[in-house]
Amino acid sequence: MERLARKQVQALTPYLSARRIGGCGDVWLNANESPFDNEYKTNFSRLNRYSECQPKALIDGYAAYAGVAPEQVLTSRGADEGIELLIRAFCEPNEDAILYCPPTYGMYAISAETSGVERKVVPLTSDWQLDLEAIQANLAKVKLVFVCSPNNPTGNLIKREDIIRLLELTQDKAIVVMDEAYIDFCPEASTVDLLAQYPNLAILRTMSKAFALAGLRCGFTLANPSIIEVLSKVIAPYPVPVPVSDIAVQALSEAGLARMRYQVLDLSANRAYLQAGLGMLDGIEVFEGWGNYLLVKFNDGDAVFKAAWDNGIILRNSPIKDCVRISIGNRDECEKTLSFLRNALIAA
Ligand SMILES: *Cc1c(COP(=O)(O)O)cnc(C)c1O
Repeated sequence: MERLARKQVQALTPYLSARRIGGCGDVWLNANESPFDNEYKTNFSRLNRYSECQPKALIDGYAAYAGVAPEQVLTSRGADEGIELLIRAFCEPNEDAILYCPPTYGMYAISAETSGVERKVVPLTSDWQLDLEAIQANLAKVKLVFVCSPNNPTGNLIKREDIIRLLELTQDKAIVVMDEAYIDFCPEASTVDLLAQYPNLAILRTMSKAFALAGLRCGFTLANPSIIEVLSKVIAPYPVPVPVSDIAVQALSEAGLARMRYQVLDLSANRAYLQAGLGMLDGIEVFEGWGNYLLVKFNDGDAVFKAAWDNGIILRNSPIKDCVRISIGNRDECEKTLSFLRNALIAA
């Protein structure tokens, strides 16, 4: 049956999500999930009816949180579906291209590949910033430029002045897609204020990280209404299950937002704890991180990853040589991880 699949799909290597990689352990710090398991009430009464395509309460709630107008918001099955919708709506297969800057999130490449859209790869500079000259030289055929900030897996922010330069370079030619999956951990770094000035900006957001709702599958695209209208044409007719919007609306209520902000403060304190603790160890480098994870460079990253795995501490190995990405868990998980690494490095 495999030979019946599209050639592009036959050749595809699926995204190796932390979940697919598996592992068994009691400390799970590999998927940038929140350690907080918040409680919600769901109403199972009107499930005989289809959901609204774009539930008004959800769109209004997120628009208010993000500081934009409801016409500038589209909700989808996670930010991942937002990536796919943008590619499907704006890129002609076998004709247009997307551009992205590794090391970065893997789904831009995979969604483009699945859709038969060319990928132009312009690596970040050695300090993980945009190489604007190389981007400019590679813009032919490019409809979407993906920029992730805070960048996954490196953790750093992309300089605001470079994002503005990029928006100007691409004006009337391509859309700059800012992936702000982790922006709730550093809201002051958002580019949302640039929407008013740059119609070619789209911003991806998610409830999966700071809102502690990875299992809910709820994300958003923020953009000029004309981009949102195009995306609305390609989205499925009933993309948001009723319980998903019910729960997301609760998370976006005043009490929900207060709890999210409190949990962000808690995780930021844990990140500082882990960063300071790791910083005292010899032979490793901890990069400054703005999301709920830290990228750490060891002498032998693969060996550290494997030793942790064998001890039930599941981290994420990264494409950057000798680097391991550690999600910020609760304090107990951070302490266990720190003491494991301390002992492992002393033993090595
Ligand atoms: C987690 C993540 C996403 C996907 O978010 P979902 O809403 O869970 O699909 C998108 N971009 C980046 C950079 C991420 O880390």
